Amino acid sequence: MIADLRSDTVTKPTPGMLEAMMHARVGDDVFGEDPTVNELEEKCARLFGMDAAIFCPSGTMTNQIGINVLSNPYEEVICYKGSHIYKYEGGGVAGNSGLSFRLLEGDRGRINLDDILANVNADDIHLPVSSIVSLENTVNKGGGSYYTLSEIAEISEACMSRGIKMHLDGARLFNALAETGDKPGDYGKYFDTISICLSKGLGAPVGSVLLGKAEHIRKARRMRKVFGGGMRQAGYLAAAGIYALDHHVQRLTEDHQRARKIGKVLEDMHYVNNVLPVDTNILIFELAQGITTDAFLQQLDQKGVKAVAFGPREIRFVTHLDFDDGALDFTINVLSQLSF
Ligand SMILES: *Cc1c(COP(=O)(O)O)cnc(C)c1O
Repeated sequence: MIADLRSDTVTKPTPGMLEAMMHARVGDDVFGEDPTVNELEEKCARLFGMDAAIFCPSGTMTNQIGINVLSNPYEEVICYKGSHIYKYEGGGVAGNSGLSFRLLEGDRGRINLDDILANVNADDIHLPVSSIVSLENTVNKGGGSYYTLSEIAEISEACMSRGIKMHLDGARLFNALAETGDKPGDYGKYFDTISICLSKGLGAPVGSVLLGKAEHIRKARRMRKVFGGGMRQAGYLAAAGIYALDHHVQRLTEDHQRARKIGKVLEDMHYVNNVLPVDTNILIFELAQGITTDAFLQQLDQKGVKAVAFGPREIRFVTHLDFDDGALDFTINVLSQLSF
């Protein structure tokens, strides 16, 4: 057996999802003629209470386009220092949109209003214009930590009233909603653009959706073409996304429970120094002094469990649709047999 905890992107389509993909009605989406893509975009916009949406190949692309349509070159994005848009998108925000970053420390990746306002630049020709605040929910680098809607409302109202645009990297937004019970429909009014991934916890093979105001999504269609993300009979992929939204949202709490169970087991292991709180489906832990991530991952891999390093001594596990109770038992058994 292999238990793959490297990421929630490793899932394969379920038989039901494949069935939905096989029967998708398709057309050329660059001409706006793919009925299934149109259906997915309308479904997502409605769900989050936003005007419009655009289907893209990846979450990196939806973030890059979202930030691009909200800004002009030479401006600045305020975000957590471990944000995906800063750390894991290859410098795209600088290259694609000509922006600089103002990076905040955050509490496991959650940035607060005081910190944000202290980093908004004054109107001074020496300083870049602070044009976007970007939040991540859940926060990958924060170990799946999340914001509640009331925390977001406070930040958004203060920023929007100052003319600052709000972007949300919601690659794992459904994981946050599963814990808070907040309604997606309440999210739309607090953001100019929201990026959601269908290919993470929701289990679709490919695809992300950028949601936003009508004017921003109109611009986003142009930028998607510029970035080479205009797809043709993409309805086959959109069908997987629709299926995922209909069938794989409710079950996300199962992933969270499994991650918590592993976290509990790790707390008692002598080779672990510290386990970050397990809020959703991401589990980050620090190895004890003297154990390298390479040595740890190698032994884990030899016993059939895959994971990734997430810092000089940190390891990340991510639970997902293809990690069931059998895989959980297998993993717990392996963790109790490691020799360090
Ligand atoms: C995975 C992820 C993305 C998008 O990644 P892609 O692999 O490009 O789809 C964006 N933000 C966060 C926080 C992520 O974890």
